[in-house]
Amino acid sequence: MPKHLPTHLDPRSPLVLDTRDLPRRPGVLRTVERTVPAPADLGLELIGVPEGADLSLDLRLESVSEGVLVSGTVTGPIEGECGRCLRPITDSLVVTIQELYAYEHSTTDETTDEFEVGRMQGDLIDLEPALRDAVVLALPNNPVCRQDCPGLCPECGVHRDELPADHSHQQFDPRWAGLSQLIRQEE
Ligand SMILES: [Zn+2]
Ligand SMILES: [Zn+2]
Repeated sequence: MPKHLPTHLDPRSPLVLDTRDLPRRPGVLRTVERTVPAPADLGLELIGVPEGADLSLDLRLESVSEGVLVSGTVTGPIEGECGRCLRPITDSLVVTIQELYAYEHSTTDETTDEFEVGRMQGDLIDLEPALRDAVVLALPNNPVCRQDCPGLCPECGVHRDELPADHSHQQFDPRWAGLSQLIRQEE
């Protein structure tokens, strides 16, 4: 992980939450409901949210003494392929987000590690890292089209669904049959 760089957040960026209208008084709440385009590479190698797909944010921003607690859900479509048979998978994903973002120069900001709590940049919160973590955690490492997907025959690459139960690649070439007889005789 690269060390945190002081990137400048753009308040118009879809995954940046602006808290200017949230008074810094513990207990005050605001809700954020919006649909934003998914950023690139949101997910794992075999499965993830397609870039630009609609992500629905349904979030609650709550002032706490040292920052803003963001909680709620993000919903979006996922696409990928089955790790056993490579058939396309489409599904939807709901992830829960709960993350504290400390005010700049608050005690929390100055005394906790970067990975423990998020940081605000002025009035702005970058939701993207927490969203990425939540999505990656929610996605299966080995996505399958269905739990009992039998996969492909390693010999011919045909889906086992489309093959008879006794499908096999035993050699029936008579020349080989002769050879195996020879081998058997030698034993
Ligand atoms: Zn499959
Ligand atoms: Zn086969």
